[in-house]
Amino acid sequence: MNIYSECIKCSEELAAKTLYETRGEHAMRKGEVIEIQCATCRTLNNIHIDEFKAKESKTVKVLALSAFIGTFVFAVVAFLWLIYEKDVVMIWYGVFGVPFLIYGSILVYDRKRVSLFNRRYSKR
Ligand SMILES: [Zn+2]
Repeated sequence: MNIYSECIKCSEELAAKTLYETRGEHAMRKGEVIEIQCATCRTLNNIHIDEFKAKESKTVKVLALSAFIGTFVFAVVAFLWLIYEKDVVMIWYGVFGVPFLIYGSILVYDRKRVSLFNRRYSKR
């Protein structure tokens, strides 16, 4: 997961990665301080893990959207294929529900991960 903080000198955004779900876990495995050089002013920052924040991932959003479009196209094809079958109205509802379900659950998963990280501090 990508986590973000600010450069102490120029306040540019600094991005780091963590493999862990919480700040506490990161502190335990990798230490409490992340050493990171600012790409703008070259200052070497030593930033405490509690100063980092997680953000919702753009990659996950793109993934969710492509999953949505993929399953939606599939639903439309299934719909056109079954359009002359009057008995399958219930199946249409089901098929069109799937894209929303997948899209929604991917976004919820990412949001949960981010809020879990941002809620818990390693020191408090
Ligand atoms: Zn800087």
